[in-house]
Amino acid sequence: MVITRFAPSPTGPLHLGHAYSALLAHDMARAAGGTFLLRIDDLDQSRARAEWEDLIYEDLSWLGIGWDGPVRRQSDHFDGYRAALESLATHGAVYPCRCSRADIAAAASAPQEGVPDFGPDGRIYPGTCRGRAFSDRQPGDALRYDLSRTVGPPSRMPAFTETGPLHEGEHDVTAEHLLTRVGDPVLARPGMAASYHFSVILDDAEQGVTHVIRGEDLFEATFLQRFLQWELGLSPPIYHHHRLIRDTFGKRLAKRDDARAIRKYREDGASPQDVRAMVGL
Ligand code: GLU
Repeated sequence: MVITRFAPSPTGPLHLGHAYSALLAHDMARAAGGTFLLRIDDLDQSRARAEWEDLIYEDLSWLGIGWDGPVRRQSDHFDGYRAALESLATHGAVYPCRCSRADIAAAASAPQEGVPDFGPDGRIYPGTCRGRAFSDRQPGDALRYDLSRTVGPPSRMPAFTETGPLHEGEHDVTAEHLLTRVGDPVLARPGMAASYHFSVILDDAEQGVTHVIRGEDLFEATFLQRFLQWELGLSPPIYHHHRLIRDTFGKRLAKRDDARAIRKYREDGASPQDVRAMVGL
C-alpha cells in the first residue's frame, strides 16, 4: 500500500515548487491505487494564518488534487509531540539549552576547511549546554538531543532508501555524518511543542506514510530525521527528493515569491495543465 502526503506550512501562498511536490505525491499515490494525504504543518503558531490554510485548499482543488480522509493539522497534536519528547528523554540524551544564536556563533570553533559551519538544523551546535539534566529544564529553554551519547558504530546505525534522481540509492546514517554535519538538533523551542524535524517524523509515522516526496533542499535533513526515527523505534518511509523549481535567475522559489504563487497563475488565466507543464509534468 502506497501512502504519500503533501505537508505545506500555512505561512504564505503556495508557489510552483509546492505545486510540483503536491502533484508528484498525488500522482504517485493515484498511479499505485494508494492514498494521498494532506497535512497542514502549522507548528509555528506565530506564523500560521487561517487565510493561507484556506488558500492551500483552494489552490490544490483548482490543480485537481483531491486528498483522502481528513486533513491532519499539527496544532491538534501538540500533546502527542510532548509525550514523545518525554519518552525520548528517558534515553538520557535530551538536555535543556539556553544558548541564543549569538552565543552559538561565538562558541563555535574557528572554521576549518571542508567542515561545514551549518547543517540542516542551523549552525552546528558546539555542545555548550550538554551536561545539563533534562529534569533541570526551565521555562524559556530549548530542548536538544545529545548525539554524542547515542551514535554508535556502523552496525548500530540506520540507513534510508532514496528514490529521487539526485541521490538515488541507500544512504547510511553514520556517526561521523551526524556529529560533523548536523550537530545536536533542537527537538522543541520555547513556546513550541516540537521542532520541525521532530514533529515531521512523528506525523509521518502516525499517518503511516510510506513515501515522503519533497524538495531536494530537505535531503540533508533526512539523515537527522532518520536517526531520530531510529531512536524512537519508528519504521522509515522511502524518501524521494525532487529537483527544486527555480526562478528565471536560477534561485530557488520561496514563500515570499508571490509572483510565482499558484493563485497568481490562476488569476492570470492559466489552466492546471499549464501549471503542470511549467514544472515539467
Ligand atoms: N512543512 C514542511 C515544509 O513545508 C514539510 C517538509 C517535509 O515534507 O518534510 O517544508
